Amino acid sequence: MTQRIRYYSTNRKAPTADLRRALLQGQAGDRGLFMPEIFPQWGAGELASLVGRSYAEVATSVLRRFTEGALEATELRRLCDDAYDFEVPLEHVTGRTHVMRLDRGPTASFKDFAARMMARWMACFIRDSGDELVVLTATSGDTGSAVAHAFHGVERIRVLVLFPIAEVSDRQRKQMTTLGGNVTTIAIDGKFDDCQRMVKRAFADPALADIPLTSANSINIGRLLPQSVYYVYAYTRLADVATSEPVIFSVPSGNFGDMMGGMIAGRMGLPVRRFIIATNANDEVPSFLATGRYERIEPSRVCISNAMNVGHPSNLARLVDLYGGRMDEQGTLHRPPDLERLRRDLYAISIDDDRTRQTIQEAYEQFGLVLEPHGAVGWAGLMQYLREHPQEADVLSVSLETAHPAKFPEEIEACIGVAPDPPPSLADLDRREESYGSLPADYEPFCELLLKEFKS
Ligand SMILES: *Cc1c(COP(=O)(O)O)cnc(C)c1O
Repeated sequence: MTQRIRYYSTNRKAPTADLRRALLQGQAGDRGLFMPEIFPQWGAGELASLVGRSYAEVATSVLRRFTEGALEATELRRLCDDAYDFEVPLEHVTGRTHVMRLDRGPTASFKDFAARMMARWMACFIRDSGDELVVLTATSGDTGSAVAHAFHGVERIRVLVLFPIAEVSDRQRKQMTTLGGNVTTIAIDGKFDDCQRMVKRAFADPALADIPLTSANSINIGRLLPQSVYYVYAYTRLADVATSEPVIFSVPSGNFGDMMGGMIAGRMGLPVRRFIIATNANDEVPSFLATGRYERIEPSRVCISNAMNVGHPSNLARLVDLYGGRMDEQGTLHRPPDLERLRRDLYAISIDDDRTRQTIQEAYEQFGLVLEPHGAVGWAGLMQYLREHPQEADVLSVSLETAHPAKFPEEIEACIGVAPDPPPSLADLDRREESYGSLPADYEPFCELLLKEFKS
């Protein structure tokens, strides 16, 4: 229990780091991604002791294994109480299937879970040193607003968000551009992949070495660890913990940070039978699992589940690493992972827009279940899996709903004839004033802006 976990780089050419350093640095010096050296195991009875506990209590129990040595347990508990002050509904749908709604945070996507914890960790880690930070992040829709909200008003931390102008919905954009203060938002005339490439290049650029840049994208280990918690929480609420009942999770996936959170929970001993990873038409990972050959999709395909329009998932190197392979940040496979084992643990499927819309319709007609495009991709994946594996029909399953349907009112209304009511967090957006800059999808002007704004 008192073990202090260190974090290694998936490229294996940088020294290991403690949590504080891994978090503040974002990416390892060799451009690899940080991963915990060990996965602390649930002792007998530990999981059972979490049954019936609040989300904040479960979060404290899971996360303290990773924050040992970096944060006091009482402090962590305080941060969890503060970060997780919203509901995490688990809806029974039919048979043994459930939907977990991860959309009740302040920006109405599951990214609030990780962004809120990471912001609090970072604020703690720089509190005593007088350091300043510039959090640089690229978003395909929901990361930007979750990160901007999580850091808004935090002293000595400034946030710069890049987003693809034509790929985010009005509500998604307004969630980031109406904050002001320490949050700056830039619209890029390009795709999400362009934004991500610009951000990655800035991190590696020696000309920017004086700016204390850190990432809040899902490459940051601080974004992954908190995402292991809701898998554990769902399990303690729904499963027969005493018999280690197996569970299937279906995860709508883009950069695979959400799924990696589940993987971490699984490696800690959560009895996961299978992860269903459901992508939209950006099917590079389902193809990789099927063929063993990896080809990124360039440019990424534009789908209605826009937060998953990713042609080369930034967390894929982590997944490959966990299965004994090695992949660099370009997506070049230096050593193949254990594909057989991957296929045993994961079921990967691509769901196109037609099928996504059809799923939104059917889920509503059959079960009165209101899904938005991302959650519908996950639900369609689960339904397909259960059709192909009828012998698992009685296995407990949980499909993750990652955004609030009211973030996509036109799409939902077109599918089911009613527009979902916005939660309070989205309701007054239209009345707030927007402010954001614009840049082309070129590195140079972006680099100049960074130097002008942030170089001390
Ligand atoms: C970011 C996002 C996803 C994809 O999550 P990854 O961790 O990138 O796989 C799915 N749904 C919504 C609503 C998102 O915002």
